[in-house]
Amino acid sequence: MEEKSKKILKKSGEPLVFVVHEHHARRLHWDLRLEIDGILKSWAVPKDPAEVSAAVKRLAIETEDHPYAYKDFEGELPEGTYGAGKVIIYDSGPYELLKRTPNKIEFFLKGKKLKGKYVLVKFEKAGPKNWLLMKGKE
Ligand code: MN
Repeated sequence: MEEKSKKILKKSGEPLVFVVHEHHARRLHWDLRLEIDGILKSWAVPKDPAEVSAAVKRLAIETEDHPYAYKDFEGELPEGTYGAGKVIIYDSGPYELLKRTPNKIEFFLKGKKLKGKYVLVKFEKAGPKNWLLMKGKE
């Protein structure tokens, strides 16, 4: 899809945004998407990311980038297409990107369900696209 390479440029001072899509595909999962460099970097989280706490981490599997405009998407992915099923916005809002290295992303979410500091760290022991989503120390 040509759309996928479309990036947006924001004016300075405009907040970055995140969205979590609840995706009722063959297997229910949540797609965490962070606006980074004008696109939505995406991870599929097999269990409810709102349950992440100091004691609970979640596996997050890196998936393909999505265009910025996809942050507003809700609807039905048709039968016979990849990820067929209903997609709804589970949470969204502004966020701050605190630190980003190839193996670690620290960010501060300002959503309704997901709030505060989170960390994604590469967890390659479990596969090349695997990360762990955890709560950061505030
Ligand atoms: Mn998905």
